[in-house]
Formats: sequence, C-alpha cells, structure tokens
Amino acid sequence: MNTHVRLADFTTLRIGGLADKLIEVSTEDDLITAVRDADAAGEPVLLLSGGSNVVIGDDGFRGTVIKIATRGIRADADMCSGAMVHIAAGEDWDAVVQRAIAEEWSGLESMSGIPGLTGSTPVQNVGAYGHEVAETIASVRVWDRVDNAVRTMFAADCGFSYRNSRFKADPSRYVVLEVTFQLPLGDLSAPVGYAELARVLDLEPGSRAPMTDVREAVLGLRRSKGMVLDPDDHDTWSAGSFFTNPILDTPADVPAGAPQWPQPDGRVKTSAAWLIEHAGVSKGFTIGSAAVSTKHTLALTNRGNATAKELLSLAAHVRSQVHQAFAITLTNEPVLVNCTL
Ligand SMILES: Cc1cc2nc3c(=O)[nH]c(=O)nc-3n(C[C@H](O)[C@H](O)[C@H](O)COP(=O)(O)OP(=O)(O)OC[C@H]3O[C@@H](n4cnc5c(N)ncnc54)[C@H](O)[C@@H]3O)c2cc1C
Repeated sequence: MNTHVRLADFTTLRIGGLADKLIEVSTEDDLITAVRDADAAGEPVLLLSGGSNVVIGDDGFRGTVIKIATRGIRADADMCSGAMVHIAAGEDWDAVVQRAIAEEWSGLESMSGIPGLTGSTPVQNVGAYGHEVAETIASVRVWDRVDNAVRTMFAADCGFSYRNSRFKADPSRYVVLEVTFQLPLGDLSAPVGYAELARVLDLEPGSRAPMTDVREAVLGLRRSKGMVLDPDDHDTWSAGSFFTNPILDTPADVPAGAPQWPQPDGRVKTSAAWLIEHAGVSKGFTIGSAAVSTKHTLALTNRGNATAKELLSLAAHVRSQVHQAFAITLTNEPVLVNCTL
C-alpha cells in the first residue's frame, strides 16, 4: 500500500491530485478483500483500472484507491457455441482484442485500440465503429458490495444501453471481477455497418472482411483522430470522447444538417462532434493548458500541465456553446471523481 499518491500518474489525461492510499491488487481474492476491508472501515473507495475514462479533481481522492491488476484468460471453444472466453478484469483490453483475432474469435475487432482494462468494458458498454461489448458479453462476474457476495450477472441483467450499464448507474455497488464473452469462430469480422469504416475497407455496408484488415483500418482511423494512446501526442492525453452522442426524442429535434441515427425505440441519435463544430468551437480551442484536440472536437486534452479545473472549464464552455446554439445539453462520458461540471 502507498500513501499520498499522485493520481495524475494513473490517468490518460495525466490529471488528478493526491489519493490518501493506493493499493494495487493482482489476485481476485486480494481485490475482494481490499474492497471489503475498506467498506467495513467506512472508507470511500475508488476502483481504478486503466484510468482512461475518469477525470479526477485537483484535490485528489480522500479514501482508498484500488488499482486493479488481476490477470487470467480461459477459453473453451467448440463449433456449436463458439468460444466462451473468461477474462480477468485486469487484462489489457487491446491485448485481448489482438488475442481474439489471432485465435479466430470474432466480434471484438472493431473495438481495437481502445485503452483501458477488460473489467471496465461492461461499465460504460464500450463501443466503437458500430459495435459495442454488450453484443458479445455472455455474463459478468462481480463482487456485490451490498450483499457481500460474488454474483454472476447474465448480459440481460446488466442493464446495457448506449455507453451505460447497471455498473455505471450504481457505481458503489459492483466490482467487476471477470467478463465472459461468447464469440463466433472464424477469421471474418462481424458485419461492418459503420459507413466510414466500410468506405476505408472498400466494403458494402453490412458485409464482412478479414478481422486483421478491420483491425488495421480501425487503428488507422483512430490514429487520425488522436484516439490511440501515444505519449508524444498531446491530442491523445484525453479520456477519449468527452461527451456522448445525444439521443433526441424525434427526428424533428435534430438540427438541420446534423447526422441522424434512428434508434430501436423510435428516438434518434445525433453527433456530439457535429454539434460542437457547428456551435463554433474549433479544434485546438484552449483554456489554460487544456484544449480541444487538434484532430477531433470530441476529445478534450491536456497540453502538458492542465488542471482538472481548466479541463472542466473547457468542458463547460463547449457544453454552453452547444446549448446556446441548439438547446441541446451534452452529457459527459468520463466519470468525474471529486469534481463537477
Ligand atoms: C484515447 C482514448 C480513446 C477512447 N476511445 C473509446 C472508444 O472508442 N469507445 C469507448 O467506449 N471508450 C473509449 N475511451 C474511453 C475508455 O478507454 C473506456 O471507457 C475504457 O473502457 C475505460 O477503461 P479503464 O480501464 O481505463 O477504466 P477507468 O478509467 O480506470 O475506470 C472507468 C470507470 O469504471 C470504474 N471501474 C474500473 N474498473 C472497474 C471494475 N473492475 N469494476 C467496477 N468498476 C470499475 C471506475 O471506478 C470508473 O468509474 C477512450 C479513451 C481514450 C483515452
């Protein structure tokens, strides 16, 4: 256990003050024990994995940060049910995607290059380029901090929706221990429905391609937007997209000219990046040492020594410009810890 730890060193934004204590846990038993002991002592707990979807305030965290570093992948594959792959929460997500492609377990390839660890993927139902983890998660094994018990939750019980889940909605209850994916066998990708990716691959939208090609195309697109971590590129010192794409009640609510993606419940999703650009916020707009990425208006970045205060002032400015222009309130995607927007 370490005390007075600088949390900026544990986040992709490189922002965050001191934590009272930080414990790194490398086994599932140690993870459960650390959470149970802190809960019994009434100490606030912050679960931290890759630190790529959090904004931690400049005053840090008064309590115990539990840094998850559990490892282990087990797989059973057969031609009928495909591969059932059980992955410990602390496994690096992109390494899992690379292994899935090498083993010919299909369905994760469009989520190549997303930072962070596997146990966080169900938390915000991670997704990219037309697919999200909810499509292939069979179950999630958790430590339930209210019932003090290990539980297995099937996908239907996880409350998955766009960038949300039961785990995100009730953050002080569940600790993800292991995620089980059910993946079809084969070297072809899941159908490529995302128009931009299909164009790069020269495919009809909805058709399949070799998974290795899809991964390369996704990584190329992501790099061009500063969405693959690179310590030398400040455009990647971010938490990824800072705002979710708004889902509006009817097509009439979508501003003229903005992209529209119909949802199964009749509502319509539109593009937060489009709204930001058309509200007059340009790439590179800066407050202090925080700036809108020079490659993608949805990412808010640290140019060197930004504070949480500067980053959140920038976020508030972007949100207010969009609200003034379109009367739409953007919702932040990263989890805010000891700070507010
Ligand atoms: C450059 C960049 C690109 C990105 N691109 C995408 C993208 O394309 N799509 C996308 O969906 N996201 C994207 N993200 C966001 C982020 O990478 C994902 O949300 C990722 O899954 C977060 O994982 P993490 O391990 O870093 O989680 P952390 O940031 O450590 O934690 C995120 C939240 O989950 C909680 N948590 C962490 N581990 C557990 C656990 N085991 N049990 C319960 N709660 C837990 C934390 O307390 C926190 O509230 C991007 C981020 C960056 C920096």
